[in-house]
Amino acid sequence: MKKPLKPGDHIVGLDIGGTKMMACVFDHKFTVVGRCRKKSKSSKQESPEARIERVVREAIDDSGGKSVRGIGVGSPGPLDPKTGIIIDTPNLGWKKFPLGEVLAKAFKVPVAVDNDVNLGTYGEWVFGKVKDCKDVIGLFPGTGIGGGIIVNGKLYHGASGSAGEVGHMTLEVDGPYCGCGKRGCLEALASRVAIASEIAALAARGDAPYILENCGTDLANIRSSAIAKAIDAGEKMVEGVVRKAAFYTGIAAANLVNIFSPEALVLGGGLVEAMESLYMEEVTRALKIHTMPFLLKFVKVVPAKLGDDAVAMGAAHLIAQRL
Ligand SMILES: [Zn+2]
Repeated sequence: MKKPLKPGDHIVGLDIGGTKMMACVFDHKFTVVGRCRKKSKSSKQESPEARIERVVREAIDDSGGKSVRGIGVGSPGPLDPKTGIIIDTPNLGWKKFPLGEVLAKAFKVPVAVDNDVNLGTYGEWVFGKVKDCKDVIGLFPGTGIGGGIIVNGKLYHGASGSAGEVGHMTLEVDGPYCGCGKRGCLEALASRVAIASEIAALAARGDAPYILENCGTDLANIRSSAIAKAIDAGEKMVEGVVRKAAFYTGIAAANLVNIFSPEALVLGGGLVEAMESLYMEEVTRALKIHTMPFLLKFVKVVPAKLGDDAVAMGAAHLIAQRL
């Protein structure tokens, strides 16, 4: 991998999520020297694109006004990584939106766009614990479930440009409905929203008093950190719900290992960050049961280490490679 940045160079990594957006200015060693983070939805009448531009400008201001050579962007998909066009993101209201071009015009620098979870996986690969591996799968269970696939040292995009939708792997043919409109996807069974809806029912009927007292029964308030605290407080049914979801995540991981035979499987996302040992335990258990034994010997399971910065770091590295 080439190292295109020299001392004095700066680049921006931008993470556009459904709930928050964050821009970081990095120096040539990929150390953060400026940062700006805002909620994705504005209370004022501000379009998402105007807000994104403002987040980047404020991050540059925070760096002391460094001049930047390029911007890497991780955005929810589906999108075309070649053209930087976002095909459709209901959360931000974009349809066929030329995000790459808009940012390139606003800041007069080259821009690279890719799927946010792809870049999270890429960031963990370049800067995390698996940098020596060539074949890596990232699996990120949180509010939804995303993933990224690195094959032979490159992000895999497939014919559509949007490969890696591991959250929509069918695990139960007649399972619950998913946000994508199909039934039985991993995301419908094991995302934070799926877990929260089961826990909300427990709380409503008096089987999860910690949750009822601290979060109520509104799914949006049953966050990963609160779920972890309820388990620590001894709520066995809450733990059972999370273990089942983590095991499903492990079955999805086993399917991916059977197909790709990666050297490393990186586990990240809000649920894993909040309950790492439980997730490592259940995913490892599912892998032992559902992976072909010969393939299992070659793969190591590692928790992600970059946390909230993974996408921005991956995005920054991506644009740095293209300068
Ligand atoms: Zn789905």
